[in-house]
Amino acid sequence: MALRETHLDRMRDGSFDTLIIGGGINGAVTAASLAGRGASVALIDRGDFAHFTSQASSNLVWGGFKYLENYEFYLVWKLCRSRNRLMRAYKDNIAEIGFYAALDEKGPYRPWFAALGALGYWIIGRFGTRPPRLLSQENIEREEPAINTASVGGGIEYRDGILIDNDSRFVFSFVRSALEVGATAANYVELVSAERHGDHWVASLRDVDTGEEFTTRAKTIVNAAGPFVDELNREWGLSTKHRIVYSKGIHLVVPRLTTKRHHKVLAFFDDTQRLFYVIPMGRRSVIGTTDTRVDTPYTETTHEDIEFLIEQINARMDLDDPLTTRDIIADRCGVRPLVVATGGGDQTDVDWTKLSRKHAVETDHRQRVVTIFGGKLTDCLNVGEEVADEIESLGVPLEKDLHNWYGEPARATRKEFYRQARLMKLDSFRDKPETEPLSDRLWRRYGRRAFAMLESIHEDPAMAEDIMGSADYLRVELHSAAHSEMVTKLEDFMRRRSKIDLVVHDDDIRQSTGLREVAEILFGDDADRRLAEYFGGDDQIPPAVKAGPHAPQISRHAVDALA
Ligand SMILES: Cc1cc2nc3c(=O)[nH]c(=O)nc-3n(C[C@H](O)[C@H](O)[C@H](O)COP(=O)(O)OP(=O)(O)OC[C@H]3O[C@@H](n4cnc5c(N)ncnc54)[C@H](O)[C@@H]3O)c2cc1C
Repeated sequence: MALRETHLDRMRDGSFDTLIIGGGINGAVTAASLAGRGASVALIDRGDFAHFTSQASSNLVWGGFKYLENYEFYLVWKLCRSRNRLMRAYKDNIAEIGFYAALDEKGPYRPWFAALGALGYWIIGRFGTRPPRLLSQENIEREEPAINTASVGGGIEYRDGILIDNDSRFVFSFVRSALEVGATAANYVELVSAERHGDHWVASLRDVDTGEEFTTRAKTIVNAAGPFVDELNREWGLSTKHRIVYSKGIHLVVPRLTTKRHHKVLAFFDDTQRLFYVIPMGRRSVIGTTDTRVDTPYTETTHEDIEFLIEQINARMDLDDPLTTRDIIADRCGVRPLVVATGGGDQTDVDWTKLSRKHAVETDHRQRVVTIFGGKLTDCLNVGEEVADEIESLGVPLEKDLHNWYGEPARATRKEFYRQARLMKLDSFRDKPETEPLSDRLWRRYGRRAFAMLESIHEDPAMAEDIMGSADYLRVELHSAAHSEMVTKLEDFMRRRSKIDLVVHDDDIRQSTGLREVAEILFGDDADRRLAEYFGGDDQIPPAVKAGPHAPQISRHAVDALA
């Protein structure tokens, strides 16, 4: 039975310690933390895991240097601690990266003052990264010629962390960890309603993919619905001390703007004196973000958003060809769920960008609901631990926290993987220019599951072939995803388990003859339906995709090795 079907089966008429609503970072980390400490947990999301806010971040693991502008020293101190902890736990998935800030003479801060701030940030961050640098105009011209230094008086470089793959894959790694210690989880399952009956909740759930409705029971509920937490609490009649307001942020993905050797985040002040960034994403650059007050969680990138960012970039960078809308490969748009006090008015009189980015965890002991308000990817381990404490306080016994529910495998396991990969000359299976060695990629993305991939490639070397030319994915990764990554729709794979939709031009995807095989491996007999869904109708499937070769016969042993 496919992974999702097995989990739906467990959910139907199931009974759990905790039902978690929402599979963004907060729900995923909660599932990993509770299941890792022995609780029986069910996790649902009405879309794919991480399909809402958690796929729209800047992919940064950071202490929030810019929050020092608002004198939020305690928040920065806490976030830096979380950043350091996360970077230590995910050495292969989170890389330290320089933030290279060129400061305009008309900007709000002189370089020496910004350098003092960066030094303070480094100290508050307990020296968790390499030290900051003060940059002269000459440094900047030499190190990043793409920056327009006409009115730049100097700059600074400070350091934080970046997720090498993407935010949604990081979120999924927590879902995967939860599954591995017995959690039940399913994407495309919506909470329709929930009622308290005696000492437990009865939740009506709907499989969004098929329309089937069923019920499940749980002693406690964790409301991790991100921008939708207030809506659910209202439905359950809960009154809370906090509530959510929304700040919209967008990013544009464009061809790489920086010079190749310069793997850094560029930071600039925009015309409103707000910091924005050019963030590396493989062979692409991601420009963003914006910070606009909105009244609904459902937002999209507008023409004005795009014009604004393009204008800001063209004024601050010396590009051979100025950026235009034609260069945009993809956009990302989401709302930050920001926490404010209930009863604090409608917040119309506050400076939006100055609202705190802290999170709050609140528990209703009578109804036995824990709600997570706000939060950041960076702070996820704290959220996992805080929610576990609250769930324990509701009478669900948990095992001692050995801190083994998160993080990458032990160093010795990593060493053994690289030894085996060297023995079978894994890196020589591919000679694509400008791509990282296969051993690094497989280890980072799959951890322990990468051992089974080696075995599978050993059984059938066809498993080490690239399927989609420009997308850089091996056949074995697709077979592994089909077994273990709960890919329900093609978009789940293209946008979230991988970042193909973000970094590959739409035209190239439409010309991809390998996409048919991708769909066949992931969905078997359902491939045509999923392709039609992805392209918006059967008659919309591009001819090149339709005519692509069928999945080749692969040795049974090679596929079984991944099961
Ligand atoms: C533009 C932008 C940039 C950011 N950059 C960074 C950054 O660089 N670093 C960082 O640390 N943080 C960053 N953040 C913050 C971070 O991304 C968010 O705080 C975080 O992703 C919120 O996660 P969440 O789990 O609370 O919400 P979500 O990811 O929105 O998850 C909530 C989920 O609940 C589900 N749900 C709701 N109602 C139901 C229901 N009835 N039934 C089933 N499911 C339901 C939704 O479908 C949704 O998937 C950024 C945010 C934005 C918007």
